[in-house]
Amino acid sequence: MRLLVFCHDCQFEHLRLGTEYDEKNALALYYAPIDEQRVAEFVCARGHKNRLLLEAQLFQVLFDYAVVAFDDGYTREAVASLAACLERFFEFATAAFLRNAGVSMDEGVEAPSHPLAL
Ligand SMILES: [Zn+2]
Repeated sequence: MRLLVFCHDCQFEHLRLGTEYDEKNALALYYAPIDEQRVAEFVCARGHKNRLLLEAQLFQVLFDYAVVAFDDGYTREAVASLAACLERFFEFATAAFLRNAGVSMDEGVEAPSHPLAL
């Protein structure tokens, strides 16, 4: 999964110098891969190292990808992203419910092998 980002050091440099954002001085955009901790790292063309933390949950990003893929006509990618989105949402909801109940994720709550086995 990748995010479309720009370099913050280059942006600060633009602000410090007071240059206009026109076609000649536009900020370059980069596709940065994002990991499981929602961290994206990349180096811009001018050598600035960037490390970004995505505030949105992964299921939100995957849902956005699914919508964009569907809108672009890539139905298989849309279904795959939506399935991954749903799985991430279940993980997120499970963690939230366990935390609300005062149970740690490390305690290893055993899930039933089948939903009807409750
Ligand atoms: Zn830069």
